[in-house]
Amino acid sequence: MSSRVQRQTVTITEPVVYEDDGGEMKTATKKITKRIYTWNEIPEWQKDNEHIIDGYVRETNSFLKCVHSLFYLHNESVNVYSHLIPALCFFSVLFLNKYCVKSFETTSLVDYLFIDLFFLGAFTCLILSSTFHCFKSHSLKVATFGNKLDYLGIVVLIVTSMISILYYGFYDSSVMFYFFSFVTLSFGTACGVVSLKDHFRSREWRPYRAGLFVAFGLSAILPILSGMFAYGIEEAFHRIQIKWIILEGVFYILGAFLYGIRFPEKGSPGKYDIWGHSHQVFHILVVVAALCHLKGLMVSYELVHKGLSSATKA
Ligand SMILES: [Zn+2]
Repeated sequence: MSSRVQRQTVTITEPVVYEDDGGEMKTATKKITKRIYTWNEIPEWQKDNEHIIDGYVRETNSFLKCVHSLFYLHNESVNVYSHLIPALCFFSVLFLNKYCVKSFETTSLVDYLFIDLFFLGAFTCLILSSTFHCFKSHSLKVATFGNKLDYLGIVVLIVTSMISILYYGFYDSSVMFYFFSFVTLSFGTACGVVSLKDHFRSREWRPYRAGLFVAFGLSAILPILSGMFAYGIEEAFHRIQIKWIILEGVFYILGAFLYGIRFPEKGSPGKYDIWGHSHQVFHILVVVAALCHLKGLMVSYELVHKGLSSATKA
């Protein structure tokens, strides 16, 4: 048990059985103050990362109690809010993009559709993730279901990110756009199906899970190489905004890698229970990567409409 973790307390009402003066057994309710729990106090199904020792919300079997956990600090709080807040921001932009996105003479509804596709994908991923982290303490059944949706959200984010930038990268080549969109969708569907299988979410699969998603992300290299072949390296860098895509990839891979090796908590179990463990770092890097993609997408969109990339709609 770590003394470095500041204990949080919750007040709950529990039934208590007592013997009255006549020797009769009676039941009453009593308000008791209960702290959040340690690794040794949680049920076996909740045990996932043995390097996180304290700060657990023990199985609640109540959606209300899970919602209540939003209002006190525990070892999932950062995981919930690090995706809930950006999710709400991305959702707001869906309604504000006419004001946020630079408008050109040639900007059409289709542009907003492809930009919104990315915002919608980012929102879906982040809201599914924060919902999962909020309700994962409910029960094994709810946690299992939520975890599947969490992975599905990552697939949705990768697919929508790639299709949105492919649209601008191959603005004047419908064949390339449709072909790589088809490859991305097929890959995404396969990853989605694998994510929904129970077998895939076991602890033993942790490194493979991370690896599969990295491989899916790396499939972005195919259209980039094709773009270089078709337009030349300089033009491809310009059109697809490869520097931002590479940076995005670096953040995703770094996040998945740290999550896979459980850095930093593996070196100092108990020290990062509430603040700074690998899953939180992974969450933050996912948001940073999505912002890199957004930057690349916006520049790519502006280049097409400014005509700087010499792209003209076929
Ligand atoms: Zn997560």
